[in-house]
Amino acid sequence: MQKSIIKDKLNRPLRDLRISVIDRCNFRCQYCMPADEFGPDFEFLPKSALLSYEEIERLAKIFVGLGVEKIRLTGGEPLLRKDMPVLVEKLSKIEGLSDIGLTTNGVLLPKLAAALKKAGLKRVNVSLDSLNDELFGKINGRGVGVQPVLDGIKAAQAAGLGVKVNMVVKKGLNDSEIIPMAEFCKKEGLQLRYIEFMDVGSTNGWKMDDVITKKQIYEMLKEKFELEPVDPDYFGEVAKRYRYKGTDTQVGFITSVSESFCSSCTRARLSANGQLFTCLFNGNGHDIRNFMRNDATDEELASRITGIWNGRSDRYSDERTAETITNRKKIEMSYIGG
Ligand code: SAM
Ligand code: SF4
Ligand code: SF4
Repeated sequence: MQKSIIKDKLNRPLRDLRISVIDRCNFRCQYCMPADEFGPDFEFLPKSALLSYEEIERLAKIFVGLGVEKIRLTGGEPLLRKDMPVLVEKLSKIEGLSDIGLTTNGVLLPKLAAALKKAGLKRVNVSLDSLNDELFGKINGRGVGVQPVLDGIKAAQAAGLGVKVNMVVKKGLNDSEIIPMAEFCKKEGLQLRYIEFMDVGSTNGWKMDDVITKKQIYEMLKEKFELEPVDPDYFGEVAKRYRYKGTDTQVGFITSVSESFCSSCTRARLSANGQLFTCLFNGNGHDIRNFMRNDATDEELASRITGIWNGRSDRYSDERTAETITNRKKIEMSYIGG
């Protein structure tokens, strides 16, 4: 496929696309969809508002033509969307797309991992914030224990999927799990990625004081393990990675708060209802769905997406201050997809 490279105002190309396929979730993680905000009366998107698989496939092809090389499927919980392997299969046939990944809480992987792999999925990131059942149940807001997630990880490995583990770290909540999670993942040969607690959306009560930084976690790990830095694999790689000396197992950090990486951010996000977001922290979505449903041609869609990307100047994490945290119109993580 002939690719054009489009750049934004800060000269950043468009390389990655995150697609949220659903805004619903079977968990109520307190840092993402707190149960008291996302209660039984919460109005999720109706099915007709969600992009269909055909629409996602069409848009993905257009994005790939504009330079996207990697797609990550996310949500809400993406595996709650019916027939996910069907979507993965459609996407895996797109010429010029080098990677398809999926971020999940893992609970439905035992049922779906083999079919996802067969459909062309390469990798999954499984979120797990604690190995302690009681604490994990409290964090996920649904009392779900650790075993269903571990079963999901095992099923993904057995199916031949690459697996990374994502752990959001929040001070006073699960910092006690930093070392146990490292020990567990090292033993299992799993790459663990510590994610700094972020101020996404406006429901999770974020405070700078709640953040445990990469530096703090690294210092804790250094007490226990010998670590050596690993070079980034490509421009714009988000995780800063280290290797446990003498092993092939790596550990990574997503330093969204303490060491921002906006200057190399090549990522666009498509919400479940087809709004295009140019930054995780920019609440102004651009409506692509209705434009498409109003008979736009592929050329018109490509031109609209190009215009949006060309106008992008977001660098929220570089600019984060106490005021911007409270004043900005932001969008919930479950909607835009992390
Ligand atoms: N439900 C799936 C899952 O949990 O993996 C996919 C969607 S979730 C929004 C994507 C990722 O965002 C997860 O790894 C989750 O832990 C992370 N996340 C959610 N809220 C966050 C926050 N406030 N700060 C940092 N990471 C967050
Ligand atoms: Fe659901 Fe993932 Fe958000 Fe947890 S982090 S509530 S599993 S979308
Ligand atoms: Fe990219 Fe926005 Fe995050 Fe900066 S704050 S890295 S521009 S998503």
